[in-house]
Amino acid sequence: MEFKKVSYSYGKQPALENVSFSIEKGDFVGVIGPNGSGKTTLVKLMLGLLKPDSGSITVFGKGIQEFRDWHRVGYVPQKATNFDQNFPATVFEVASMGRFSKAGLMRQPSEADRKAVEKALHVAGITNLQNSRIGDLSGGQQQRVFIARALAAEPDLLILDEPTVGVDMKAQHNFYSLLKQLNGEMGMTLVLVSHDVGMITKSVSKLACVNVTATFHDVSKGFEEAALFCSYAKDVGVVPHHHD
Ligand code: ADP
Ligand code: MG
Repeated sequence: MEFKKVSYSYGKQPALENVSFSIEKGDFVGVIGPNGSGKTTLVKLMLGLLKPDSGSITVFGKGIQEFRDWHRVGYVPQKATNFDQNFPATVFEVASMGRFSKAGLMRQPSEADRKAVEKALHVAGITNLQNSRIGDLSGGQQQRVFIARALAAEPDLLILDEPTVGVDMKAQHNFYSLLKQLNGEMGMTLVLVSHDVGMITKSVSKLACVNVTATFHDVSKGFEEAALFCSYAKDVGVVPHHHD
């Protein structure tokens, strides 16, 4: 994924200005910045949901306008677990939705679809919950269901937007172990958005500090300096940093 001088505004208000970076295969990128700094806007640009006002975006070597293989890009949205708790679907059914972009809505699920969903449930550690109703699960378990849904598409790149908001500490800890496994053992490229520096310090190899502009840091050999830089960048911002 490559951004070259990308800018985006909602109306007159610039949300991102002149953002350039590249993400290589196998990277684990942490994106941090205060609330309202443009993190979700950055994610939506990566997913082709927003079109840049200026600059260019390349995905897997293709201009984003021409890119069609969106099943290669998995997405766990912000507040994924914030849905109707009476939603009448099982864990297996929700995870199966991850196959739709590949299969098309009308096609019968194939053996390959079923296998991919089973594997995703296994990796997410929720095989034992596959017949449970999603509304009956804890926040941490629901979070894993939405990760399984993204994994079911067998993505090469997985983008997660503040996936640990509203999840307890123990579930968060397990969640970071899962991400390390996806990145380390399975070689999946990860982009993890968080407004909390402390959460991602130990996991990531690259750090993006977003506050309308964005700076990228290689933190594979130490985090201290970049983290310091990010917190300075935060002081310059006009939006106070509050937890939801
Ligand atoms: P973050 O994810 O870092 O909290 P966002 O990317 O969601 O930040 O938002 C960046 C800025 O753009 C904020 O000032 C926000 O209020 C504004 N913004 C986000 N979405 C919209 C929208 N749909 N219309 C207008 N302004 C928006
Ligand atoms: Mg956001």
